[in-house]
Amino acid sequence: MAASPMLAHAYFEGQIVPFGEAKISIGTHALQYGTGAFAGIRGYLDADGETINIFRLPDHATRLLNSAKLLRANLPFDRESLADTIVSLVEANAPTGDVYIRPFVYKSSVQLTPRLKGMDDELAIYMLSLGDYLDTSQGVKAAVASWVRIPDNAIPGRGKLSGSYINSALAKDEVEEKGADEAILLNTAGKVSEGSGCNLFLVRDGVLTTSPITGDILEGITRRSFLQFASDEGIPTEQREIDRSELYLADEAFFCGTGIQVAPIASIDGRPIGNGVPGPITARLRDIFFAIVRGQSDRYGHWVTHVRPRVAVAR
Ligand code: PMP
Repeated sequence: MAASPMLAHAYFEGQIVPFGEAKISIGTHALQYGTGAFAGIRGYLDADGETINIFRLPDHATRLLNSAKLLRANLPFDRESLADTIVSLVEANAPTGDVYIRPFVYKSSVQLTPRLKGMDDELAIYMLSLGDYLDTSQGVKAAVASWVRIPDNAIPGRGKLSGSYINSALAKDEVEEKGADEAILLNTAGKVSEGSGCNLFLVRDGVLTTSPITGDILEGITRRSFLQFASDEGIPTEQREIDRSELYLADEAFFCGTGIQVAPIASIDGRPIGNGVPGPITARLRDIFFAIVRGQSDRYGHWVTHVRPRVAVAR
């Protein structure tokens, strides 16, 4: 059996505890109704082999607190104390490789009514070892799903709300069964929204284009970073509605997000994109991203929180 990627300690009910002791009741509201919100944060092992570089930790903390606000969750955390709690768990786990950190907020009451107000809320965090989960060097196969992205006035996709990931799961299963790696969802207006767990960019005639934050997408932190890289590199960018047929005419296309990192797209619905290998703008932006997270570039240094767990433990 493969070794568990789960790291030894979790944060649960206000304390750092062994992962196996972080358990909840089967009657928990969030388990019944999906009334939770989560974050996905990556920590990269620096080129020095010791430091863990956490990418845009304060931004992830802010987005989780915003998602919590949508859920009317009351938590005794602000952005700084939430980020500090995440760092404490990284120090306790002292990882020796790349990690994925999963903080989540959930309605912890054992309660039958599907409502948001007046319930108990908790924060829990766990971590696992995680490398690339889709090949980021070669192109991936994408397909447009028949499942439509949940509109903001049904379940707001700009929050990372647990229950809304059923929508992602339906789309992902559908396209995987057709032999694709990742889904592209259209919104109720028929415009391109995003992947099942990532944002989407196209390049057409040298312009980097992505759907607007009012297009039923998650306000992706990697998306925002790539828009910044492009504008700093002098690459024109657009955030606007994208038609399905534009997908097929793109010179380059890629998914991005914390988990997927950067995944160039080789084909959409079986139609090749560009010449089937990562295009020059995709490759340029990807290289900037990986140089930052691996500590090989000081550019955007303010986006990286450096944690040196083994040094902290020895102190
Ligand atoms: N959209 C969805 C639906 C996602 O689950 C994710 C992953 N968090 C993203 C986009 C990318 O967001 P980020 O870059 O903040 O990870």
